[in-house]
Parts: sequence; structure tokens; C-alpha cells
Amino acid sequence: MVSGSAAQFLTKTFYDKLKEGKLIGCRCKKCNFVMIPPRLLCKECGSKDLELVEFKGTGTLETFTVIHVPPMRLKNVAPYVTGIVKLDEGPMIMGRIVGVDPNKPEELRMGQRMQMEVIEEDGKPVLAFKPVS
Ligand SMILES: [Zn+2]
Repeated sequence: MVSGSAAQFLTKTFYDKLKEGKLIGCRCKKCNFVMIPPRLLCKECGSKDLELVEFKGTGTLETFTVIHVPPMRLKNVAPYVTGIVKLDEGPMIMGRIVGVDPNKPEELRMGQRMQMEVIEEDGKPVLAFKPVS
């Protein structure tokens, strides 16, 4: 049985760790599949035998987009860049892209090396990545 509270616990753990600057996910002990954010069941084989793992927080930029019309709570932040980073350990995750001028997105390129950084918005940790040259 998958209970809602266990899933909430995992989400809380993910954000608690993020606050400490750590990026966590989980690895399936059965098939070795690595997932982020952490889940209760393996996405690949359905096994419940998972362990938490910490990612290095480095990867490559897969794709990105500049947000000019943001959700209400981010209206003071726009324009900003979000993107999908493929972590060196394999899985992909979406995050804010910082350290780049949103008015000059051409400075970013696919495959660019990225390093995670945690920013804070409304007192909550937000996963972000910045380009490393
Ligand atoms: Zn598995």
C-alpha cells in the first residue's frame, strides 16, 4: 500500500535536503534505475526496494525556455529562464536557470555544463542551475 503520508514525507525530505544545498533522489536496488525527485515505487520495474541517493548536482543543459508571462506568484521575477538539466547520474530534472541574462538567452547553449545552486523564493528553496564555463 502506498500511503499519501509516505509520499508527502519524501517530498518534504527532498525540500529539506534542497535547503541544505543537497539534491536527492532514489535508486532502485533491484534494477539500479535512478530517479529524481525520490519516489515510492521504481518507475522502471515497480519495485519498492529503493534507497535515497545524493546527486553531485552537475549535468548538462538539455533544453531551456525564457518565461515572460509567469504564474502570479513569480510576476516580480520575470523574465526568467527555466530549463531541463540531465544530471551526470542520468535522470533529468527541471530547474530555474540562473547566472544568465534572460534578455540574452542566446548565451546559453544545449549541452552546456551546469552546476546546481539553491535559491530562495518566498522562504522556500528552489532548485536552480548555473552555467559553468
Ligand atoms: Zn527498478
